[in-house]
Amino acid sequence: MTIFSDLEPDKPYGAEAMVAPPICSCRRQIVRFGFETCERCYQDGETKRKEAERLRRAKYPRTPEQVRRDIARSHLHTYIKRGKALKRPCEICGNAKSHPYHADYAKPLEVRWRCHSHRNDSPSARDLI
Ligand SMILES: [Zn+2]
Ligand SMILES: [Zn+2]
Repeated sequence: MTIFSDLEPDKPYGAEAMVAPPICSCRRQIVRFGFETCERCYQDGETKRKEAERLRRAKYPRTPEQVRRDIARSHLHTYIKRGKALKRPCEICGNAKSHPYHADYAKPLEVRWRCHSHRNDSPSARDLI
């Protein structure tokens, strides 16, 4: 049994590893531990994913309102990731599966947390702020 962490991640697996070196579908050797494709196929995949995303955006353009909403959401999630904002449970029932709702997209940190069943509670989440 080989302990993988003993292998240097940037070097190809040596014969002493006693396992067949992983091979990509393009038949190149996979040198990065934990990767399912070789470096080149991984980069190709990234390029394709970005292109597909660009086409999807062009096909379904967002309204200016949706763009502002997405920016506000991504700001909030970045703050949460950095520990500058906290994810909270639903403010009505305490359900941990809650989502943030913005009243004003210009204030990404001012949100009401609502679970799925309370998201449309009236008065609307927007009016509560
Ligand atoms: Zn490959
Ligand atoms: Zn709730």
